[in-house]
Amino acid sequence: MIYDKNNIFAKILRKEIPCKKIFENEYVLSFYDINAQKKIHALVIPKGEYIDLDDFNQKASDEEIVALSKAITEVSKILDISTDTGKGYRALTNLGEHGGQEVPHLHFHLFGGEKIGKMVE
Ligand code: AMP
Repeated sequence: MIYDKNNIFAKILRKEIPCKKIFENEYVLSFYDINAQKKIHALVIPKGEYIDLDDFNQKASDEEIVALSKAITEVSKILDISTDTGKGYRALTNLGEHGGQEVPHLHFHLFGGEKIGKMVE
């Protein structure tokens, strides 16, 4: 599959459309989901052009992979939902058609601020 440069998160990264930013560094951007499913619903995305987690793990540099993983914890601390400073959260990423992925740019959802419930409804 070829990366679609016109997906909505690519447009956010190019600042063509706005986002409610939570965190940013050289490799990663985090912002609030526009359609929150829980009290806190954040997204964490790599700045590089990766379709999903499989694409990322096969093509990204070690620096990018470490940065994305660490950013999830960084964002959880900023939002006070980390297991250090808060009550925990769920981090998940959807892959492809069966995974229910809608935006074809890798993103982790961080759900928190309340009990998240069952793994799969
Ligand atoms: P997924 O189904 O895993 O691909 O999730 C895509 C997510 O992107 C959904 O939770 C949407 O609400 C969210 N989303 C779509 N457009 C935007 C946007 N412009 N800003 C923030 N979140 C968005």
